[in-house]
Parts: sequence; structure tokens; C-alpha cells
Amino acid sequence: MNPAPESGLSSEDAELVHGLLAGGRRPLAKAITLIESTRADHQARAQKLVEALLPRTGRSIRVGISGVPGVGKSTFIEALGMHLIEGGHRVAVLAVDPSSSVHGGSILGDKTRMESLSQREEAFIRPSPSSGSLGGVAEKTREALLLCEAAGYDVIIVETVGVGQSETAVAGMTDCFVLLQLPNAGDDLQAIKKGIMELADLVVFNKADIDPNAAQMAASQMRGALSMLHPASAHWQPPVLTLSAMQKSGIAEFWQTIERYRDTLSASGDFATRRRHQALAWMWQMIETGLHQRFHEHPGVKSALPELSKLVEDGTTTPAAAAQRLLGLMSRYF
Ligand code: GDP
Repeated sequence: MNPAPESGLSSEDAELVHGLLAGGRRPLAKAITLIESTRADHQARAQKLVEALLPRTGRSIRVGISGVPGVGKSTFIEALGMHLIEGGHRVAVLAVDPSSSVHGGSILGDKTRMESLSQREEAFIRPSPSSGSLGGVAEKTREALLLCEAAGYDVIIVETVGVGQSETAVAGMTDCFVLLQLPNAGDDLQAIKKGIMELADLVVFNKADIDPNAAQMAASQMRGALSMLHPASAHWQPPVLTLSAMQKSGIAEFWQTIERYRDTLSASGDFATRRRHQALAWMWQMIETGLHQRFHEHPGVKSALPELSKLVEDGTTTPAAAAQRLLGLMSRYF
């Protein structure tokens, strides 16, 4: 597909689109770099690129994988990725790690992770963008995901760490959200506390090779806990699997479960519904981000904010009154 002339792409970007659609990893990486750039001209180009490629997106299965550091995410993704490639798939691995902007690295930043997978032509691995807020990171990852689909990757894995709100963001951009757990007593309860279990479409206990009995016990405890929750789809009760990423055992069964999930939810219509809801939620998030940005950039707000903040701190004016004033300043220009 050549982008239509009305897409407004420069010849350089049209070439980028062309290369990306031909499956080139380099043009894909370059396009994602544009998405991640904070420069306004890059952003404008990136938006046009994404729009031009939109008709070629949507044809992958998007799998979110979450778990605390050390649970074995990269070992698991590497084993899964290699299994999928053997089955004729092309696999893209993206990451959402809001902490990467704080400590400089990112969960996929370490080159030694997923060493065999990263050497395969059929795989594309991209570390988390480090653009600060979780919202920003998630937004860029969503767009990168679309570009990977246009480039012909039919399995997209989005990895995230088991801290903060990043799970919610990743569950909100994937078709199936997998929670990777360690078979240690108490872990399952931690997940319940954080409200993450409600997001899981599938729970996996890794490192089952260390103590298979403990893994089975943890799995059955988890099944009990999950059965008390209201499942996201009436057609799917989240299964609990045990496997060993290191020994590559249970990987094929894992993927069969993902396929069963996709087939079941496609048949019931829930698969498409979830994507529709995600698209709408994304739009609203963009609106909220845009409004937030406009508010802070508004000259009237900028000049009144310090004084009003002080009045609120001192108790001289109420938060509600100050908020009304500031929002009022903004609305004059709409
Ligand atoms: P991540 O931080 O979640 O990406 O975890 P890693 O994939 O880096 O794994 C953390 C450690 O656990 C590494 O030393 C792995 O070799 C080890 N590990 C990962 N999967 C397994 C497994 O299935 N069994 C055992 N025994 N160790 C594993």
C-alpha cells in the first residue's frame, strides 16, 4: 500500500510507511522514535504516520504480561517468543515502565534480556519509552503497538512491571492480560490487595520447576480466590496455569490457552467489544490530557495560579472557589 497523497505525508515519511509495511524493522524503529519524540514537528509527523497506517492495524493478538521484577517475565517472553516464531508467528515485544524515566533504565533496556529472541528477524523488541508520566508512556506504547501491527507482527506482547498503575494501563491496551506470579505463599493475596487480580484474564505461576507441589498449591489457592471475583467476561473464567519459563515447559499449553481465550471471546463478541471500549477510553484519556495541558499553558491561568494556590493554602479561599475561578478563566477562550 502506498499512502494516499491526501495523507499529507512528506516523501521521506511516505518512504518510511512503505518500508514499515514491507516489514522492515529499521523503518518501524524509526517511526516509533518519532512517536516517542517530544518535539512538536516530530509529533505532527508521527500523528500523520499513525493515521496513514491505521487501516493496516488491528490484526494481531495483543497480550499484556505483568509481574514483579524477578518473577521471570523476560525469561518467559523469550521462551514464548521463540515458541511462537517456530509456529510461524512474528512477535513484537513492547514495554510500559513508568519508572524508566526515574532511574534511567527500563525493563527492556538491558541488552542481555531476551538475547535469542532479539536476534531473530521475526521478532521486534522495544524498551519502554521514558517520557515521564505513566499516561505519556502508555499513550506512546499504544501508538507503537499499532505501528507493529501495520508492520505485520501478529502477536504483540506488552510487558509491564507489577507496580503502580501500569497494569491498568496495559490491561487497557491489550486483548488478554496475563498475571505472572511466583508460587510463594502470600503473593496471591498481595495481588488481591492491589486490585490487579480483577484485571487478569489468565494467571500463570512461573518457576514451577523449583517446587512443583508448592506451585500446584498456589494455583489452586488462586483458583479459589478468582472464583470469588466477578469475571470481566461472562464467557471466560480466568484459568490458572503453572509452568517453568526456564525449562520451557508449559509454554505450548500457555499459548493454547491464549488461543482458546481469543476464540471463545471472538465467538461471544466480547473480543470486539473490549477493543471498542478501549478505543473510546483512549479517546477520553487524550481529551483529558489535552485539557490538562491547555489549562496549564493558558496565560490567564498561569498568572493567577500562584496567588490562588496560596489563598487556598492559607484557608483564605475555598478550593472549590479557586477551582471555579481558574476554570472560568480558561473557558473564556473556548
Ligand atoms: P523479570 O525481572 O521478571 O524479567 O525476571 P527474569 O526473567 O529476569 O528472571 C529473574 C530470575 O529468575 C533469573 O535469574 C531467571 O533465570 C530466573 N527464572 C526465570 N524463570 C524461571 C523458572 O521458570 N525457573 C527458575 N528456577 N528460575 C527462573
